[in-house]
Amino acid sequence: MKYIDIDKKDELAGRQVGEKDTFSFRCYPGIGCFNRCCRNLNLFLYPYDVLRLKNSLGISSDAFLERHVDAVLCPGNFFPEVLLRMSDNPEKTCPFLTDAGCSVYADRPDTCRSFPIEQGVQYDAARKKDTPIYFYRPPDFCLGQHEDDRWDVASWAKDQDARRYQQMTIRWAQFKRLFIDDPWGVEGPEGSRAKMAFMATYNIDRFHEFAFNSSFLKRYKVKTAVLKKIQSDDAELLKFGMDWVQLFLWGIKSKKMRLR
Ligand code: SF4
Ligand code: SF4
Repeated sequence: MKYIDIDKKDELAGRQVGEKDTFSFRCYPGIGCFNRCCRNLNLFLYPYDVLRLKNSLGISSDAFLERHVDAVLCPGNFFPEVLLRMSDNPEKTCPFLTDAGCSVYADRPDTCRSFPIEQGVQYDAARKKDTPIYFYRPPDFCLGQHEDDRWDVASWAKDQDARRYQQMTIRWAQFKRLFIDDPWGVEGPEGSRAKMAFMATYNIDRFHEFAFNSSFLKRYKVKTAVLKKIQSDDAELLKFGMDWVQLFLWGIKSKKMRLR
């Protein structure tokens, strides 16, 4: 997922695909390039990716972040990007790659799931509106692009069970856009507020503990129905976490909670 500058979108590599455009693609075990794409990647993980992967692996979000990611601050945004750490071998393979393919296939990240389509979000500042846009971007070595199966963006997303991921990624893009300006002030991006914001989005198990086993509920009045949902549904808790960060950093009101 990328935020797209409206004026520069035609300069990006790959072909933009509209709702009615179609593209060719098929990937299957046995294709000549099988598994070639799962190595030496700058694979960005969004919070929903982390949530699904840590559940798939049966480990805590703490353990997942410790074992599998590097967090980096990129120019132009004051919230860290989270990258999947590749294995320490000559080919720098994805840690989840096996000879039989992806070992976390049912919970593979949005980028892998949507491939060869990349989703961006175009923000129209005048209308304050986010619109998803899509690019078809198979690398040259990917033979899947020469297969006969034809798709459009919607049918591909349905086939790859990507809709939920794409919705969560758009919400994440809206959240990340707020960090174009520095919210940290003198504390900097290593300060306690930055750590809380990272926890509430990427470290969902810690945030669950914080929400239910600290003074959080004494300080915030949370709607009963919301409380029920976030207790048992990590994805709902993640959306709640984004709302909470927006509230505590910028005072952006949420329908889910308010300060007592
Ligand atoms: S390079 Fe393309 S066709 Fe080959 S395994 Fe990867 S996604 Fe599939
Ligand atoms: S998560 Fe799976 S699909 Fe994605 S790069 Fe790793 S092995 Fe490949």
